Amino acid sequence: MVHAKAEKPQQRRLIAPCTRDCPAGIDVPRYIGYVAQGKFAEAEAVVRERIPFPAVCGHVCYHPCEPGCRRSQMDAPVSINALKRAAADYGFELWRQRWEETIAPDTGRRVAIVGSGPGGLTAAYYLGKRLGHNVTVFEALPEPGGQLRVGVPHFRLPRKHLDAEISVIAETRVQIRTESRIEDLDELLNQGYDAILLAVGAMHPRKLGAPGEELPRVMDCASFLQAVNLGQKVNIGQRVAVVGGGNVAMDGARTARRLGGSEVRVLYRRTRQEMPAYAFEVKSAEEEGVIFDFLVAPRAVASQGKGLQAQLFRMELGQPDESGRRRPVPVPNSDFNIAVDTLLVAIGLEASVPSQWNVALKPDGTIKADPKTQETSRPGIFACGDAATGPVNVIEAIAGGRRAAEAIDRYLGGDGDISETLAPEPGDEMAYPSYLLNAGTWPPHQHEIPRDRRTSTFDEVEQGLTKEDAGHEALRCIRCDLWRIQGIPSVWPRKQAGNSAGSE
Ligand SMILES: Cc1cc2nc3c(=O)[nH]c(=O)nc-3n(C[C@H](O)[C@H](O)[C@H](O)COP(=O)(O)OP(=O)(O)OC[C@H]3O[C@@H](n4cnc5c(N)ncnc54)[C@H](O)[C@@H]3O)c2cc1C
Ligand code: SF4
Repeated sequence: MVHAKAEKPQQRRLIAPCTRDCPAGIDVPRYIGYVAQGKFAEAEAVVRERIPFPAVCGHVCYHPCEPGCRRSQMDAPVSINALKRAAADYGFELWRQRWEETIAPDTGRRVAIVGSGPGGLTAAYYLGKRLGHNVTVFEALPEPGGQLRVGVPHFRLPRKHLDAEISVIAETRVQIRTESRIEDLDELLNQGYDAILLAVGAMHPRKLGAPGEELPRVMDCASFLQAVNLGQKVNIGQRVAVVGGGNVAMDGARTARRLGGSEVRVLYRRTRQEMPAYAFEVKSAEEEGVIFDFLVAPRAVASQGKGLQAQLFRMELGQPDESGRRRPVPVPNSDFNIAVDTLLVAIGLEASVPSQWNVALKPDGTIKADPKTQETSRPGIFACGDAATGPVNVIEAIAGGRRAAEAIDRYLGGDGDISETLAPEPGDEMAYPSYLLNAGTWPPHQHEIPRDRRTSTFDEVEQGLTKEDAGHEALRCIRCDLWRIQGIPSVWPRKQAGNSAGSE
């Protein structure tokens, strides 16, 4: 491998579009540089410098870093997230070598975090390890992780990765108390906590608003996923319809296929083009035999024998609504019925914040929090993640957790510095490789379990890249961080906004 050596390259780097578009600011080209050299452990350490969930994100991040990747101007974006996963898959905790250096001394201050999703746990990690505060995370459910535990199905995120990363978070001054729902914030303050972070997510399902939705075989999809993910037995029968076109609907439909649903259909009121679910989620559902019915919406649900009769309208698209998508309107006299055993409703999730917490809310029910400091209307009380933004995604929740940790530390008198050096000093990976532009093929081959097994197991579907494929893919990165062309500012100008989970 030949590299042109650069003098102190790290001082002259630009912020590449991928780093700019990552809400947590991960130094993407640097870890890709390591992957290109087969140094997966070093790559993992670079990712870990910004997030405590490298493997989890390698599996489930919606990768807002990819749409703006400049390689797409030549052919297609670099598969950045698959490389992050390869770093976590083949890394071997080299970051541990420098781990001790950044453990802060005990400040004696106490912080309570309500909710153990990615937002709350990220804040807990930095507050405990990096800033020296004593953190208690209160979680209502029997296991920590938030939607990573109870929303994302096992076939997309094996729980061993989540468990391993949570146990690292809990290593330094973080105590996680499960089955501990917090009702009263004043009680926490009376117990001597110096600050509180609300990271309670947006887990309240939107109602269908159609007659019959209270029938026992009509379930909200998020509760269905939660029950399955926590190992409860759920009987859905063979014919299952899922109402909604977002990622949660896709997870619900794919899970229903694995639970014995032989006829699983997604009912969506617009067309495929307007679906908020990511195309790769829709493709996976189709590969697993999920049927899609577009331009249909439920009018009512009624009991029929042991199952249900879903009464539907055909829809057509009218004028654009406030979301910019054309509004679906019922076609007159188009009613028709289908027989199903279970109807899963996946038309969105909302925040539901107890009024006795006395924090100011936005009209959509999320907590009003300063987007830079995550401070709420009550001094000493902060909020992050979906509870403050509405349902978005894991990496946004992690970024909010980082900001909250910085702000809480400043509130407690610290300097809010959560930077960590875990990777080795910059070396060859910071130089411009001489073989650029002629390497790699796209898309890299993601190994998957055979399609005929997919509906009979909760085993992980995507098996990731081989080391060789990851190395080739990494060579497609054109290292925008190292371009030193006159006139280019220190940050590449932004063209695209990030992604959201989308749930309707
Ligand atoms: C089915 C599903 C699949 C998803 N898939 C992806 C994906 O692949 N990629 C992606 O990026 N995003 C995905 N998302 C979105 C992502 O999971 C969320 O945006 C993210 O988890 C939000 O993190 P959070 O920390 O804000 O809260 P959450 O993860 O929602 O966690 C909040 C936690 O707070 C707890 N809690 C609430 N109230 C209290 C209380 N009063 N006391 C104590 N505890 C309380 C809850 O029990 C929960 O554990 C998915 C969401 C769902 C529903
Ligand atoms: S080509 Fe490389 S450095 Fe440039 S945006 Fe894509 S991943 Fe980032």
